Amino acid sequence: MPKVHVPLLMQRAVIQRAKGYCEYCQLPVAFSPASFNFEHIIPLVKQGLTTLENLAFSCGGCNAHKKDKIEALDPLTRQLMPLFNPRTDIWSDHFQWSDDDLLIIGTTPTSRATVRLLKVNREGNVNLRRLLKMAELHPPTL
Ligand SMILES: [Zn+2]
Repeated sequence: MPKVHVPLLMQRAVIQRAKGYCEYCQLPVAFSPASFNFEHIIPLVKQGLTTLENLAFSCGGCNAHKKDKIEALDPLTRQLMPLFNPRTDIWSDHFQWSDDDLLIIGTTPTSRATVRLLKVNREGNVNLRRLLKMAELHPPTL
């Protein structure tokens, strides 16, 4: 994956727009031991641009699993679906928290494909959500 410089003002705007949370798994940067990325929703290798409209604030885990993909298989229908796009899709239209607030459940073909590919319910994420919930800091109120 080619590295590209995202200007500081653009970085600040991306973080502010995301309110400091991964726009995929909702991991808060303030409690994340790993670094976050300014993720190109349409990857550079697919002619995506370094613009506010094409950047998402993404935790390292989601970014590492997404890589340069823009679509993935919906595990239910086995159809290739576009991944959740934080710029054009609304999180709550595609995802919901499980009853115990620990797991993200995809409610659409796009979000099921995204949950699966990005592994948003990674063990570390679930454990962090559990701790944050005990501190009444989860689920996020975005
Ligand atoms: Zn994430």
